[in-house]
Amino acid sequence: MGIKENYLQIRKEIPGYVKIVLAAKMRTKEEIEEVIDAGGEIIGENYVQEAERMYESLGEEAKRLKWHMIGSLQKNKINKALRVFDCIQTIDSPELAEAVNKRAQNLNRVISVFIEVNIGSEITKAGVEPNYEIVKKLAEYMSGLRYLRLEGLMTMGPRVGNPEDSRVYFRKTKDIFEKLQKEISNGDLRYLSMGMSNSYKVAIEEGANMVRLGTVIFGKRGYDDGNINR
Ligand SMILES: *Cc1c(COP(=O)(O)O)cnc(C)c1O
Repeated sequence: MGIKENYLQIRKEIPGYVKIVLAAKMRTKEEIEEVIDAGGEIIGENYVQEAERMYESLGEEAKRLKWHMIGSLQKNKINKALRVFDCIQTIDSPELAEAVNKRAQNLNRVISVFIEVNIGSEITKAGVEPNYEIVKKLAEYMSGLRYLRLEGLMTMGPRVGNPEDSRVYFRKTKDIFEKLQKEISNGDLRYLSMGMSNSYKVAIEEGANMVRLGTVIFGKRGYDDGNINR
């Protein structure tokens, strides 16, 4: 099957409320255009430079899409990131939150952000501990930053292996998400971004309303990118 068929098939299989972020790393402009033609709306990028290149090469089309940063953001790339991205899914410290807020303030724009929760992946240090009090503390801190709008939680977790092993972590993140929604309760917090190609079905069962898909839509990447891509 081609990219378009893959996308349409998955779109049909999963509930309509679940948003699909198209993990675009290492993909060509043509591949991205194909998935846009099929109805794709959100592009997920791991690297600021790659995102800029894709954004520019798509021309007018790029402006109709939403761009989400799903890789870890280096402080010296924030200004560039703010030119491309609508949302940064990978805030995991007060320092990073503050740095993004400050640069967004300079541009006088409010940026959508997610907190990244580290769900027991030993391979990446990214993400805050999946502990409610810790996530809440960061969320509270962020709610005092006027140029950030906290709209979601994101989890990474293992890309390979049995997706059932991720279920308990997805559930834990969902619990944190629901508690936060109750306690922060300004209505902005509404996206739970979890699940990738091998785990999106389990993630949706456990409450994800946003999944980040690369391989199942575009096919295997042409290199061995290991377990994560940062
Ligand atoms: C690459 C990547 C994905 C998608 O991974 P696939 O296994 O190709 O679906 C999702 N999230 C992040 C953060 C990624 O880097």
